Amino acid sequence: MQSYQLIRSKRKTLSLQIDKNAQLLVRAPMRLSVKKIEDFINEKQKWIQKKQVEITSRIPPKQNYEQGNRYLFLGKSYPLQPVESGDPLTFNGQSFQFNNQYDGYSAFHWFYKKEFIKIAMPILNQLAEKHRLNYQEIRFKAQKTRWGSCSANDNINLNYLLIMAPISVIEAVIAHELAHIKHKNHGQDFYRLLDSMISTQKQTDVWLKDNGQKLHNLKPLV
Ligand SMILES: [Zn+2]
Repeated sequence: MQSYQLIRSKRKTLSLQIDKNAQLLVRAPMRLSVKKIEDFINEKQKWIQKKQVEITSRIPPKQNYEQGNRYLFLGKSYPLQPVESGDPLTFNGQSFQFNNQYDGYSAFHWFYKKEFIKIAMPILNQLAEKHRLNYQEIRFKAQKTRWGSCSANDNINLNYLLIMAPISVIEAVIAHELAHIKHKNHGQDFYRLLDSMISTQKQTDVWLKDNGQKLHNLKPLV
């Protein structure tokens, strides 16, 4: 039997409601038998399920940063190892050490941003120098909708959640934004320049299309 919360009152009819936590609420007249109530619920099972699925998909996933949950780093996933002290989050090549005195979500953002800057800056400066593409400012932000951008004044924004992607994807996104310093559109000249900078643009677009959502959600891959 489906679990439900029963609220009896001086009413004449039965009614079903799915609350914002996807729980079933049943309102029933004072003396209606449980058997009758449950028959009614069974009859409406399809509707209940449909509503619960709808609502559940809107509830953000609970984040519990537990032993063994896997998180992405440079295109591969590694298990989490809770520890009691030290930096919020460290990585030893095989696992993440998460100091559970900290909030897990913030610890991952802190770690991902720090590591992304470490990896992205040399790539950015090397490509900029080689192709004479001088940017003004660089900012690192976790954005919901973009991997990077280049403004009219040649300021570049990069999404540090890209640290979860393979290095070739990081390189391709950086090259793409740098190429916009010269060409502020996606025309032929833009792609000609981009092709001269990197060879993995196509694979990158495919990878981001298939995996992009995982990067935004920042949830364990179990
Ligand atoms: Zn673009």
